[in-house]
Amino acid sequence: MGKDQNAEVIVVGGGIAGLSAAIYLGRAERDVLVLDSGRSMARWEPDVENYPGFPEGIAGGELVQRMREQARRFGARIVEDEIVRTGRKLGRFILHSQAHRYVAVRVLLATGIFHLPPQIEGVTECLGHSMFFCKDCDGYRVRGKSVAVFGWTNDTVETALALLFYSATVAILTHGRKPCWDRQHDSWLKEYNIPVYKEPIVAVGREGCQVRSLKLPKGAELEVDALFTMRGDVYLNKLARGFGASVDEEGQVVVDLRMRTTVKGLYAAGCVTPANCQMIIAAGQGATAAQTINRDLFEASLETHSLRRFRGAQLQELSQTGTSQDRKAIYGKHRKNHRSGRARKRGLQSVDAV
Ligand SMILES: Cc1cc2nc3c(=O)[nH]c(=O)nc-3n(C[C@H](O)[C@H](O)[C@H](O)COP(=O)(O)OP(=O)(O)OC[C@H]3O[C@@H](n4cnc5c(N)ncnc54)[C@H](O)[C@@H]3O)c2cc1C
Repeated sequence: MGKDQNAEVIVVGGGIAGLSAAIYLGRAERDVLVLDSGRSMARWEPDVENYPGFPEGIAGGELVQRMREQARRFGARIVEDEIVRTGRKLGRFILHSQAHRYVAVRVLLATGIFHLPPQIEGVTECLGHSMFFCKDCDGYRVRGKSVAVFGWTNDTVETALALLFYSATVAILTHGRKPCWDRQHDSWLKEYNIPVYKEPIVAVGREGCQVRSLKLPKGAELEVDALFTMRGDVYLNKLARGFGASVDEEGQVVVDLRMRTTVKGLYAAGCVTPANCQMIIAAGQGATAAQTINRDLFEASLETHSLRRFRGAQLQELSQTGTSQDRKAIYGKHRKNHRSGRARKRGLQSVDAV
């Protein structure tokens, strides 16, 4: 294991939430390091239609790439690595990957979620094209199409009912499972005339990544254009638990309105929290977390007087370079020393550890 890599703020997860935070933290002149294992869910979406600013849509992978460039522009370092273990030392957060150790004063967890696709051959190939997890993301693109909903819970029924806004042809497939929706949901199914197929799905008929049909036993076949599945959500909360942060019964990391977890100095944002798992919400939460981290670090620098030492160094530098009170001249000097200013702040971190 090589030398520790230090940062004032480490963001674990370089997806939508983490990169949004990195942009804000970089522009707040914080020394920020993003550690990312490169599996943002956004990559699964070939055409994001609901992210503001892209009227023609944008591929999820490209959006992540652009956000990376934007974060780098403001000084964020982005490293491809996967954190597997956590620790604490002298108020610092320690993050271990297989080969490296990272140390930070503040940590933001933006590790996201993983949706389990149905274990049916051929389904994974259709992910994001004709197999979807989220009606809010993809309901609009199945307007007027024949839609199947895979599941057996109250959520399944509610999704099928909500999809009626987009399509007149919606059916539920329980894939051989006994439905566990309650009586109210059962009566809605009857009232709204939604067919339920309880047989197991034997295979998916598809052309490339386009679902064409779901094959049932005894040669029966249901023609569909799109399949929605009730998400088997796996929250990537291992690091949060490692640091002792609370998670709820579903596995979501508990945060307050400012994205603070129950552990001082540790924050979380995006789909690993109880957010509605949408890109714009993840980006908003990342920005909120960054603002909170910046504010908390600022308050700590007043408490520990590290801001005073920083100011002392600034004044000394000004006195060495002349006594000009011309604001433009001072500003010019600071722009030139942009990097060294950040490095100097790094040197003052020790007093700000939580
Ligand atoms: C098929 C599909 C289609 C979608 N379509 C849309 C859509 O059209 N519109 C929309 O708004 N939303 C859509 N979404 C949801 C959207 O992708 C998420 O809301 C968004 O990506 C969440 O951002 P996040 O930062 O929380 O997580 P992610 O973007 O998933 O980023 C998490 C990052 O953390 C990294 N990571 C995890 N653990 C570690 C670790 N231990 N060490 C280092 N790195 C780690 C991962 O590799 C990943 O890069 C879709 C999702 C799917 C699956």
